[in-house]
Amino acid sequence: MEADVERVLIAEDVIEKRLDAMAREIRHDFPGEVIVVIVLLKGAFVFAADLLRRLPRMLEIECLNVASYHGGTESSGEVDFLDRKLPEVRGRRVLVLDDILDTGRTLAAVVERLAGEGAAEVRTGVLLAKDRVRAVEVEADYVGFEIGDEFVIGYGLDYQGRYRNLPYIGTLRREAM
Ligand code: 5GP
Ligand code: MG
Repeated sequence: MEADVERVLIAEDVIEKRLDAMAREIRHDFPGEVIVVIVLLKGAFVFAADLLRRLPRMLEIECLNVASYHGGTESSGEVDFLDRKLPEVRGRRVLVLDDILDTGRTLAAVVERLAGEGAAEVRTGVLLAKDRVRAVEVEADYVGFEIGDEFVIGYGLDYQGRYRNLPYIGTLRREAM
């Protein structure tokens, strides 16, 4: 697995330090309130697990299965909601966590759905945001790192289901694609 990595973009200890700061920011913005956190699967599971353990407070944690890449390296342009039911968010403050903001379609679609379900407020956090023109107008409230417009793997992000368990963010060698 490691042999398929072309270059380490963000090392494990750098991610950990950044998560400390993001958690501080979130604690500051939601003082003493039980919020609903919605983790977008599958990509955000590593990021969310590490970030949420830095929030020593009452949270209701839900997951939402969405897909847009369908295993490849280009966004398909369509966001599929794979769950039959959305988490109950009426009147609640919600924090949505995703692995990476790319075209923006995923986050925009999820925010719109949750707002439609009557959430009082929907904030968003991503580990990575690609420096590119978004296909839809959306930005995240909490961003771990801005990265260039290239395909990355690791720390939850996959290529055809693999590499999610790499502890860092890297790029994939061409021969591995
Ligand atoms: P968007 O809807 O913003 O185009 O894309 C968001 C989703 O596409 C992410 O949740 C992630 O699953 C996938 N994605 C976007 N860029 C990358 C990337 O560089 N690597 C991987 N593995 N997935 C990505
Ligand atoms: Mg994905």
